[in-house]
Amino acid sequence: MRKETIDKLIGIVGAKYVTTEKEDLICYSYDATGREYLPEAVIFPESRDEISKIMRLASSEGFPVIARGAGSGFVGGSLATHGGLILSTKRLNRILEIDKDNMVAVVEPGVITGHLQHDVEAMGLFYPPDPSSLKFCTLGGNIAMGSGGPQAVKYGVTRDYVLGLEVVLPTGEVITTGTRAAKGVVGYDLTRLFVGSEGTLGIVTKAILKLIPMPISKVTLYVEFPDTTQAAKAVSDIMASGRTPATLEFIDHSALKCVREALSEPLNEEIGAILLIEVHGSASVSKEDSEKIIDLCKQNGSLRVKKTRNKKEANGLWEARRAISPSLFKLGTKKINEDIVVERSNIPELIERLKAVSEKYALTMANFGHAGDGNIHVNIMLQGGDINEKARAEKAVREVFQIALELGGTISGEHGIGISKQPYLRMELSEKEIELMKGIKKVFDPQNVLNPGKIFPD
Ligand SMILES: Cc1cc2nc3c(=O)[nH]c(=O)nc-3n(C[C@H](O)[C@H](O)[C@H](O)COP(=O)(O)OP(=O)(O)OC[C@H]3O[C@@H](n4cnc5c(N)ncnc54)[C@H](O)[C@@H]3O)c2cc1C
Repeated sequence: MRKETIDKLIGIVGAKYVTTEKEDLICYSYDATGREYLPEAVIFPESRDEISKIMRLASSEGFPVIARGAGSGFVGGSLATHGGLILSTKRLNRILEIDKDNMVAVVEPGVITGHLQHDVEAMGLFYPPDPSSLKFCTLGGNIAMGSGGPQAVKYGVTRDYVLGLEVVLPTGEVITTGTRAAKGVVGYDLTRLFVGSEGTLGIVTKAILKLIPMPISKVTLYVEFPDTTQAAKAVSDIMASGRTPATLEFIDHSALKCVREALSEPLNEEIGAILLIEVHGSASVSKEDSEKIIDLCKQNGSLRVKKTRNKKEANGLWEARRAISPSLFKLGTKKINEDIVVERSNIPELIERLKAVSEKYALTMANFGHAGDGNIHVNIMLQGGDINEKARAEKAVREVFQIALELGGTISGEHGIGISKQPYLRMELSEKEIELMKGIKKVFDPQNVLNPGKIFPD
């Protein structure tokens, strides 16, 4: 970027909020993929109007802008792959309103997801989308990625809680979509189009989010199984029983081993997998549902069922669950992290076929995830030092995606495409669908300045 452009950016937000220092650029050069692309500058606007001016400048001068929340994405969405300007939403971090009567919250995009959850809970309300990164990821990032989390089984994903948005378009124009009211069908649903658009169509500057009442009672179960097949069968039986739990997480032994220290429960070799289940409802419903679920686990050969005694014990298990992803590096030096989904009844077949892929390509694999949604995070852990390992892993990834599609699913349930999954896009989408999507991008971003090179291969 030219010096005159940087000066113009300084003119918009002030010198304190633009940096081109190498040390600062490095901090904004990576995300959870571990890939690195150095941006040319980073900017920290504090308002919609500043963002609008930045986008007008970008459109007239033709430099790329990439919105960035916490940089916790798993597919490289927030990376400056084409150089340009990283636009951090760090200073747009206010919860503007929590309206208890209408059960909505109005937030800026840089609010940390867990902070909103904490504040609404204090008022007896509930914002269910709970990516395991909730302690550091932002609502803007969640909206852009359409993020999910363990509680999606019962409550749905971020998409189901976004009522309306304020968005700065790549041209600098500002629009508002949706409504604060409980429903609305006026024109195309632009709100839903923005959710999951990976920061390629506009920069979210405000969101109206739906809240629901806090469930009265929660029962947390930790269930051990001798092998992954029995655990997977229990998952599909529970989901078919109609007693939908709030969470139904599957964790195999390899993944569990990585958080052994954080886990309050003993982990011996006879445990092949566990299910971490939470049941929500009235006191009587959650008691009844959890008993039925325990029965189904026993019918599928569970070794032990532990019901947590209090919130502290339950929170301890969830802390361990959230620590799995970063802890997997105990199994290898590099992680290839996929998040496939299959139809729920196909979870047992998926788990069997994943085992076969791991054996066929002689790769270390750890599998865990939101099994109640049919969503499994498949992690191939590379050891390094073996020149053929990477080629084998690439073949294994393609095969894993093929299996997901054959089992009625998708290649990504919540992490998105970004740059990481571009080579596989055509396995799921037809040429016509890609052409339509590229057409939408062109309507919103005729100069291709906002997050270029993401989702679709150049
Ligand atoms: C340990 C760990 C656990 C995780 N667990 C889950 C999980 O359970 N479920 C899940 O879905 N994901 C999970 N993730 C992935 C990640 O946390 C989510 O994708 C999250 O929503 C990203 O938020 P972020 O603030 O870090 O966004 P970033 O990574 O900064 O950005 C992600 C994308 O959003 C765009 N963006 C950011 N802000 C805006 C904005 N205001 N307007 C427009 N576009 C914007 C960026 O350009 C980029 O394309 C996990 C990640 C980690 C590291």
